[in-house]
Amino acid sequence: MAAFGRSSIFAVTFVFLSALLLPITHRDSILEGVPSGKTRVLDLSYAINDKLVPWPGDEKVFEAKVNASVEKNGYFTRSFWMLEHYGTHLDAPAHFPPGKATVDQIPAKQLFGPAVVIDVRAESARDADYQLTAARVEDWEKRHGRIHEGAIVLLRTGWASRWPDVQIYRNQDARGRMHFPGFSVEAVKLLMERKVSGLGCDTLSIDRGASTEYAVHHLALGAGLYQLENLAEMSELPETGAFLIVAPIKLEGGSGGPVRVFALLP
Ligand SMILES: [Zn+2]
Repeated sequence: MAAFGRSSIFAVTFVFLSALLLPITHRDSILEGVPSGKTRVLDLSYAINDKLVPWPGDEKVFEAKVNASVEKNGYFTRSFWMLEHYGTHLDAPAHFPPGKATVDQIPAKQLFGPAVVIDVRAESARDADYQLTAARVEDWEKRHGRIHEGAIVLLRTGWASRWPDVQIYRNQDARGRMHFPGFSVEAVKLLMERKVSGLGCDTLSIDRGASTEYAVHHLALGAGLYQLENLAEMSELPETGAFLIVAPIKLEGGSGGPVRVFALLP
C-alpha cells in the first residue's frame, strides 16, 4: 500500500513536471534552431514600393527619394513617405474606436504568439464573399485543441496568389464593391473569448471586401486586438505549431503602420 502510494505520487509529479517543461523546451528549441537553420523562418511581409495594391481611393501611396548617394556624398540615404495602411500593415486599436492604443502603445508582449492558421482556401475559391464562421473555428479546435490565450489567428484564404494584381486582388464589381473573404463577427466573438492577441489575413481587410460597416474592425479593435492585413503567401504555414513575431513600426500616435511578420516553423 505504502509502496503503491509513493509510486503514484512519483508518477503524478513526473506527469506534472513534464507538462510544465514540455512547452518550454519546445519553444527554446524553436528559437535556438534559427541560426542553424533547423527552425525555418518565413517572412510574411511584402517588400514596400509604389506598385502594391492600395485601398480604393488612395492615390498617393508611397514615395522614396535619394537624399545622398555614395558617388556624391560618400554614403547612401533616402527619405520616404507612405500611407500607414499600405502593403503588409498592422491596424492598431486606435484605427477605429477613439481613445484606444496607437501603434506605438501596443504592449510588446502582445506581438509574440503561437499562430492559429485557419485554412479557408476551398470556401474562398467557391465564394469570394465567404466569411469565417464560428463553427469553422470550433472545427479547428476539435482537431488541434483549444486556442491558447495570446494566439494570433491567421485566415488563409489563398488571396495572396492574386497579389499584386489590383484587378483580381480587389475583385471589384461594376458598382465598385470589392469581393474577397474575411472574418465574421460571430467568429471574432468566439476568438475574443479565447483572449487572442491579434487577427491576420492575406487580403486587403479583416472584414470581407463587400463589407460597408466594418463590423469586425469595430469589434476586434474595440477589444484591443490588432489586425494584420495583406499578409504574404501562407501556404507553407502549418495549421498549428508555428510561432509568430509581429514587428510593426513604432510610430508615435500612429493608427497603424507597415509591419514585418515572421513565422518560426518547428
Ligand atoms: Zn488597415
